[in-house]
Amino acid sequence: MGPIDIELLKKIVGPENVRDNIADRYVYGADASVHEATPHVIVRPTNTEQVQEVMRYANREKIPVVPRGAGSGMCGQVTPIMGGIVLDMKGMNRILEINVKDGYCRVEPGVVDDDLNRALKPYGVFYPPTPASSLIATIGGEIANNASGTRSVKYGAARDALLALKVVLANGECLSLGATTRVAASGYPLERLIVGSEGTLAVIVEATLRFVPIPKYRCLGISNFNRLSDAGDAISDIMASGCQPSMLELVDKVAITAVNKAEKLGLPDVEAILLFEADGMAKESIDPEIEKIKSICEKHGGFGVEYSYDEKERARIFAGRSKLFPSLSKFDDRLASTSLADDMAVPFSKMAEAAGKIHEIAAKYGIVMTAYGHCGAGCIHTKILMDTDKNFQWEAAEKAVAEIYDYVCSVGGTTSAEHGIGLSKAPAFKKEKEAALELMRGIKRVFDPNNILNPGKLMDAPDRWLVATPLRYQIVE
Ligand SMILES: Cc1cc2nc3c(=O)[nH]c(=O)nc-3n(C[C@H](O)[C@H](O)[C@H](O)COP(=O)(O)OP(=O)(O)OC[C@H]3O[C@@H](n4cnc5c(N)ncnc54)[C@H](O)[C@@H]3O)c2cc1C
Repeated sequence: MGPIDIELLKKIVGPENVRDNIADRYVYGADASVHEATPHVIVRPTNTEQVQEVMRYANREKIPVVPRGAGSGMCGQVTPIMGGIVLDMKGMNRILEINVKDGYCRVEPGVVDDDLNRALKPYGVFYPPTPASSLIATIGGEIANNASGTRSVKYGAARDALLALKVVLANGECLSLGATTRVAASGYPLERLIVGSEGTLAVIVEATLRFVPIPKYRCLGISNFNRLSDAGDAISDIMASGCQPSMLELVDKVAITAVNKAEKLGLPDVEAILLFEADGMAKESIDPEIEKIKSICEKHGGFGVEYSYDEKERARIFAGRSKLFPSLSKFDDRLASTSLADDMAVPFSKMAEAAGKIHEIAAKYGIVMTAYGHCGAGCIHTKILMDTDKNFQWEAAEKAVAEIYDYVCSVGGTTSAEHGIGLSKAPAFKKEKEAALELMRGIKRVFDPNNILNPGKLMDAPDRWLVATPLRYQIVE
């Protein structure tokens, strides 16, 4: 890669949409992970033609390009480890069409999830993947990560809501993939290949998404457990019972303690809390589901069960979960919450064992970990709470993470449920998918022969973490 022609980029997208000062380059070098690297320049296109021109130039000059949404990814997906251009897609944030008759909407990739749902609400429909970061996460980032959320147990992930895509390839060509119809059996579903590709195959410039009716009623419940394993057993029983909860969330003791410390919510001092929700158009169909879930919880030692349809009450019941993420660094003043083994998926029947195993492995390496997440979808999130000043804690964390993912894969789970791979999970991902890595590299070569799109990620990511610079974490030997 030679020097980047900033003047040319300014001509393509306008001078106001090109930034190469050190402060912006620093900010755009990080996401919600522990990783960072500095890009040479940030370019914010506002239409497809501009994306095409930028890609043609970058491909000719072999300049790395990292597409970026809100930068809320937790694994370093947008960390520009080879420098180059960060393509800030938030400049393309128009909702192009809401077609209620045909049941789809068309959006640009920089549309924020919550903004889309606000626009859909008057039509009585919603776009369901909705991660907990929906306040900032963009549709492009959600598709490229195959994001999901609290309601994925019933409504699925970004993959399930996707009908069609318009993408710009590395050589600047623009292609339409998929179809707006509900069914399509017309050859390779290439739009699906872009899902979870983390910006390595193409730049999404438009997405056609399906939506679903907003349920008239939602009932949210909570159950406390004195043993984490009992909560895990309740989860697998609920999922095998024929119930279809619209939410099933686990919160463990570490998270409960952190939330109580940070938010003074007075959550009970128990080993685990399970939150469950059922939704629908009639209370008559929801009530029996809630009763069934309640009795399964109680069968497994759940107590203090309460539930409500009332919006304010639901917000109160959910408060502990909604404050969880920012509270984790308050668990202990000396420990910072880091996204390392940040998510994974396991079969329902292994939920109890997996949650316990995470704590067991953490204790073995002298670190603190929490286990929570969208358990009804088999998804467990963890965070490592550690003294980030100390090198030995990073080393312990690295060993613990490797052991956790070995365990997860040994029981039929997978390295990521919804947060993606990026850099932090790449070592485990490469181990899990070893037999398919060459095939993935072949696909990448077809899409991007010059390897300019988000290079050095997924199957080509480093075998060890590239830990952040001292600006974010002061590591003392
Ligand atoms: C507090 C918090 C809570 C979270 N909760 C959840 C959750 O419940 N569920 C969940 O799934 N995730 C969650 N996340 C992770 C993250 O928010 C999601 O994965 C989200 O989908 C990322 O969207 P983004 O716009 O920030 O994408 P970015 O982080 O900017 O990018 C993510 C990936 O998408 C690629 N990309 C972005 N735009 C494009 C494009 N136009 N074309 C091609 N590739 C593109 C990037 O190159 C990168 O590889 C959470 C994060 C935080 C900080």
